[in-house]
Parts: sequence; structure tokens; C-alpha cells
Amino acid sequence: MTGPVLLPEDGGYAEELRTYNLTVVHTPAVVVGAMNAADVRAAVRFAAARELPVAVLGAGHGSSVSSAGSVLISTRRLTGLAIDESTRTARVEAGVRWADLIEQAGKVGLAGLNGSSPTVTVVSYTLGGGLGPFGRKHGYAADHVTALEVVTADGQLRRVTADSEPDLFWALRGGKGNFGVVVAIEIDLFPIPGFYGGGIFFPGELSGKVLHLFREWTADVPEEMSASVGLLHLPPLPFVPEPLRDRLVAHLRITYLGDPAEGERLVAPFRALGEPIIDAVGEMPYSAVAAVHNDPVDPLPLFEHGALLRELPAEAVDEFLRLAGPDAASPLVLAEIRHLGGALARPPAVPNAVANRDATLFNIFLAAAGGPPDAEALHGYEQRLVDALAPWSTGRRYLNFMFAGDAEPQAAALAWSQDAYPRLREIKRRYDPANLFRINHNIPPAN
Ligand SMILES: Cc1cc2nc3c(=O)[nH]c(=O)nc-3n(C[C@H](O)[C@H](O)[C@H](O)COP(=O)(O)OP(=O)(O)OC[C@H]3O[C@@H](n4cnc5c(N)ncnc54)[C@H](O)[C@@H]3O)c2cc1C
Repeated sequence: MTGPVLLPEDGGYAEELRTYNLTVVHTPAVVVGAMNAADVRAAVRFAAARELPVAVLGAGHGSSVSSAGSVLISTRRLTGLAIDESTRTARVEAGVRWADLIEQAGKVGLAGLNGSSPTVTVVSYTLGGGLGPFGRKHGYAADHVTALEVVTADGQLRRVTADSEPDLFWALRGGKGNFGVVVAIEIDLFPIPGFYGGGIFFPGELSGKVLHLFREWTADVPEEMSASVGLLHLPPLPFVPEPLRDRLVAHLRITYLGDPAEGERLVAPFRALGEPIIDAVGEMPYSAVAAVHNDPVDPLPLFEHGALLRELPAEAVDEFLRLAGPDAASPLVLAEIRHLGGALARPPAVPNAVANRDATLFNIFLAAAGGPPDAEALHGYEQRLVDALAPWSTGRRYLNFMFAGDAEPQAAALAWSQDAYPRLREIKRRYDPANLFRINHNIPPAN
């Protein structure tokens, strides 16, 4: 090992285990700060020899599951990032966060398929699908991975492509951490120097108008347009701009990859609804893409939940508003509806395990903030909202938005299609028969 190996009694143990989501404190038997692929191999072999589970920690946004008793591999030192302008590709190591890739790619007029948050790692986000503001035009981030360097349960480092190991290549792109520790990925980049977009914040009283218009408007917007609406109730903290503090606001997020004049025409019906608090939609460089959602970058204790909807009729919007709108005594800091469809609904050129595509038109994402004693009440409220939307739901879930309580195989299985799941279990049996990688969203090996 060249990186640090820390036991619970060692100084630096807690620091190494820092997460973004503060609802979980990791307590592995040992934490390994990997400096390179050889360190990852050594850690996996050590765990396999002792039959200990392996956990992986990137930026800790999806770390809501306890890693007690595991060998935890921290990837934050794996920060290699190489962009090849001529082939429009990037090799991205496991500790690289989207903010770095956005900055580097933006300098040469290229873009990746990032999500709303710039602080998640590119690798973890992409392994879980990767749903972002260019999604309707270009699909999931996992659809544009061309190779993965992964340490599998046998301790081997493999470079996995569509030709070298097609089954593992299929399973890794959408199967998240179940098949090994990914050291680096190679991805396609896109010539997107800029776009028309940003966010408009409306006062909470306009939530109903904004959401009902969003429902009608999404019926025929072109694939170049990706959009969502978040009902936000932000705390009165210094990082929140004063006009948005401690009040419900409806936040429309827009990214349009076409002529800006056409983008402006498409957004006009929203602007006609009433006076916004802030209108920050306009022409933007790709380097500013994180401003579309403006996700908080500092750690928070978040309890999250979600649902996939096949349709969004007026009744569904009314139910959403009943529990998350201006008249609801809601504990949610964010209740969001994202428009899917377009390329997100189609299988990619080389199929992968990202599922629940064609039947799904909207993604619901809920977040409540609070300490562990609030967990039951906050999850209970989120579940009420998910249950209220059940008539329009597909009953499935989007993997990257599944958190604590979803880690058990029965719940986790909802992230994959009924066809994909048995295939994933079979591939898991071949590559990880002892289920070493079982800490998060576990797919048990086939018998
Ligand atoms: C504020 C916020 C906004 C978000 N927005 C979006 C969004 O717009 N679109 C979207 O798709 N998702 C979004 N997510 C979800 C996010 O992409 C996932 O939770 C992602 O896994 C977080 O990355 P991370 O580096 O923080 O992962 P971590 O929390 O560090 O790891 C989560 C899990 O990923 C797996 N993993 C991590 N690294 C590796 C590796 N190197 N090899 C194998 N497995 C690994 C492990 O199973 C691990 O338990 C958001 C989350 C938050 C909190």
C-alpha cells in the first residue's frame, strides 16, 4: 500500500470518512486511502481473504448506508483527469468530481453529461446512470462510457470494454458498485461550448401555475430542451440568497441546446405567469452549468426519496401540490419533478443496465433535512407523497436517487427492469460469487 491504512483508533480515520450526506457516519473495520490501482487491488484481496465486505467512498453524496465492519476504499486521491480534444474523450479517475471535469472540458469547448450537483464524483454518478441537464438530447451519462478500469472481487485489474468483457461492460454501466471498484472510466465528450438556460425562481404562490404549465408544456417540447421544477424551501442560512430564504419558491430549471432565440420563445409562457423573484435564464457557457440547479455544495443531513412516473396528469400535479405546495406543512427542502423522455427513453448504442427507460416520463426527487431523530418522521412524509403519486407511478425507482432503506436487495431491485435483474444476478455470480460488494444497492449473486 502506498496510501494510508487507518483503523478506528488512528488519527485521521474520521477525517478520511467525511461524507456530503451527514445522515450516516461510516464505521468500517479499516479504511484505505487508495493512491492507485495497486492499492485498490491490495485492499480488495485483503477483504476477500477475510470475507469482509468492501465499501467504496467517493464524495459521499450517496453514502446513506452504514459500512460497519467493512474494508472501505476511499477514492479521493485518484484525481487523474485527461481530456483528449481530438477524439472528444476523457479518462476520469474515481476521485474526480464533476466540477473539475466541467472546468477542464469547458476550456476546450467540450462538455460531459454531468448532473445537477458539481460535487459528486463522475464515476459514482455515471455508474448509477447519470441523469443530467442534457439528458433528453444525449441520454444517460452511462450511455457514453467506452471503457472502465475495474478491480473485481478476485483482485484483478481489468480494462472492460464492449469487446473485451461484454457482460461485465453491460452490468457496470448502471449496476453501480456491485461488480467491483472502478478505478477510472473513459467517456465521450460533446461539443457544447454553451447553451440557453439557467433558473427562474417564482414566489411559492405561483407553484400551482408553474407546475400545471410545466405539465402541459412538457407534452411537446423538443429533445433539445431538458427541464425540471423544484419546489424549494431553503433555510435562513447565509449561503442562501436573501430573497430565497425561509420561504417556498418554485424553481424552474432550463437547458436548451438549440438557437437561443428559440429557447427564449420556449420559456416565454413561464415568464408570462407572473413576476419572478430571480430570472437567471439566458445564454450561458458550459462552465456555468452548475448554476442551472444551484445545488448546495456544502455537506447536509439529507433524507431522500423518489418515484418514477409514466405520466403527469392534472390530478397528479394537484396531489404533488397538496403535500409539497404552498399550503402544505411540508418538511421537504426540495420536491422536484424532472422531465425525462427523449434520448433517456431509448436504449444506447451499446446497451447497458440502466433500466426503466421507455415507460417513464418524469422523475420525482424529494429531500428533507434533519438529524437522525427526525429520520422516521421525514421518511414517513416522503413516503406519503410517493404513495399519493402511486396511481401514475411505474412502481420502479431511479438508482442514483435511492438512499437509506433502499439498500436491501428487495428495495434495490426496483432500480432495474425485470429482464435486467436476473441477468445482473447471473453476472454477479460470475464476478463476485461471495458478494464482497454488497454494502450499497446490493444485487445478490444468482444461486
Ligand atoms: C445534492 C445532490 C444532487 C444530485 N443530483 C443528481 C443528478 O442530477 N443526477 C443523478 O443521476 N444523480 C444525482 N445525485 C445522486 C448522485 O449522483 C449519487 O448519489 C452518486 O452516487 C454520488 O456520488 P458520490 O461520489 O458522492 O458517491 P458516494 O456517496 O461516495 O458513493 C455512493 C456509492 O457509489 C458506489 N461507488 C462510488 N465510487 C465507486 C467506485 N469508484 N467504484 C464502484 N462503486 C463506486 C458505491 O456503491 C458507493 O456506496 C445527486 C445527489 C445529491 C446529494
